[in-house]
Amino acid sequence: MTPGERPAIAGGTPIRTRHLPYGRHHVTDDDVAAVLRTLRSDWLTTGPTIELFEQRIARWIGAAHVVSVSSGTAALHAACAAAHVGHGDEVVVPPLTHVATANAVVFQGARPVFADVDPSTWTLNPSSAMAAVTPKTRAVVIVHFAGAAADLGWTAPLRDRGIAVIEDAAHAFGAIGTHGPVGGESQLAAFSFHPVKLFTTAEGGAVATNDGEAASAMRRFRNHGIDTELRERERTGTWRYQMVELGWNYRLTDIGAALGLAQLERVDAILASRRALARRYVAALAGSTRFVLPKAAADRHAWHIFTLAVRPGALRVGRDEIVAALRAEGIGANVHYAPVHLQPFYRQRYGHREGDLPAAEDICGRIFTIPLFPEMTERDQDDVLCALDRVARWYES
Ligand SMILES: *Cc1c(COP(=O)(O)O)cnc(C)c1O
Repeated sequence: MTPGERPAIAGGTPIRTRHLPYGRHHVTDDDVAAVLRTLRSDWLTTGPTIELFEQRIARWIGAAHVVSVSSGTAALHAACAAAHVGHGDEVVVPPLTHVATANAVVFQGARPVFADVDPSTWTLNPSSAMAAVTPKTRAVVIVHFAGAAADLGWTAPLRDRGIAVIEDAAHAFGAIGTHGPVGGESQLAAFSFHPVKLFTTAEGGAVATNDGEAASAMRRFRNHGIDTELRERERTGTWRYQMVELGWNYRLTDIGAALGLAQLERVDAILASRRALARRYVAALAGSTRFVLPKAAADRHAWHIFTLAVRPGALRVGRDEIVAALRAEGIGANVHYAPVHLQPFYRQRYGHREGDLPAAEDICGRIFTIPLFPEMTERDQDDVLCALDRVARWYES
């Protein structure tokens, strides 16, 4: 390519005619057949497929219990409730995440206390998190950002003090941490099965835990606070049930679980193709003078999204212009995320302002996501790299 070639946003010819999305679900004929079987069965919700789905996840990650719910958000909410997060409590959360991470804390009447992220890994900074802990702190939420297993070693003293460690593992099914798969050794780890995540139930989520009491509490929590499920009552021939606390309807359907179960069968292949594509991106971008990558172990990563940031001072324009220019080339660039503490709701409620969390705000101002999904070809990927190069040359400082 010639230097300074005119990008599409400045009147050049777009690299792609067909838009390449940043992520995309993949549904096979086997998946469809599994869903149809469930649709024709006796149970559309909270039936045998749910149980099987939960068992398979538990086995895959190595957790004692898995409780499925209707979304990743519900999973975070259930985890907060199981950790006894309540009115007047505080929960330490990072701002570089989906709004649902903090919202789940608010659902329980508690306050999310935002702590800063590490400038190299982009996950919760242990010293900022520790500094945010007060006598009111009930839990700390670690986000395995983009699918990189965050280090949890530093959280042991928190657990000794009775502070729960909740993992937002929405990005990280299949990521490998120091003790094996994310969620396997967890107190509470929340997954999401939204279509853009590693595998899907359409809407859905689950919490993995090694605490049997927390698992029972979450089974009640997803079912109105009732102490038994319908299928159990049918088995024992009783109509009687007891609502022992306030709960929600956060149940996953068997239809969704059938889709998830079929997808879970090929999760190793899904992970392998994400990792192979990510390795090519890393090889092409690791030494870039224009962009920086977060520090992460590529082969232990779940690669939910591929994020990078504009290197400070490298370009004449900001991230927003780069994203717009990539989109003009037919590349579905996106941003994960705007800093949560600066969302209007959190600003108004807690008085947050720019400058409160400098590392997160700096990264959030430069970060963007480029396409990565298993069905993407190497040619698609070369289009992304070519577009990045073309746009960066055009805007070189
Ligand atoms: C997707 C996501 C959620 C919410 O999951 P839903 O299934 O969409 O409710 C929560 N946290 C993070 C980090 C996510 O990416």
